[in-house]
Amino acid sequence: MGMWIATAGLDVLWIQHTTRWHRQVILAHGFGHLLCEHSPPAPAISPNLDDRLWRIVESCPELEGRAISGVMACRESEDRDLLMEREAEVTGRLFVDKLLHR
Ligand SMILES: [Zn+2]
Repeated sequence: MGMWIATAGLDVLWIQHTTRWHRQVILAHGFGHLLCEHSPPAPAISPNLDDRLWRIVESCPELEGRAISGVMACRESEDRDLLMEREAEVTGRLFVDKLLHR
C-alpha cells in the first residue's frame, strides 16, 4: 500500500515495506497521481485520522509543523475513483518506463 500525504509545498509518498519490485510499482503509481495533478481528499478532522497515518506523520520529520491538506491511500483493490486510479497507474508506468529505458 502507498499513501500520498499532501501539504502546502510538500508532497510525501509513503510506501509500505515490501519487495523492491512492489515498492517501484507503488512509487510509479504515486508519481502518476502527481503528474496528473490529482488532488487527494482532505483528511478527516485530527482525532479521526487513523493510527497508521499518525505513525507515518510522526516518523517523517519533513512533515513536522505542516498542515496536511490531503491524504490518499491507494490499495490495489481500491476502486473509489477508478478513472483517476487508472490514469495514475498508466501515467506512472509510462513515466518509469521512460526513465528506465531511455
Ligand atoms: Zn492511487
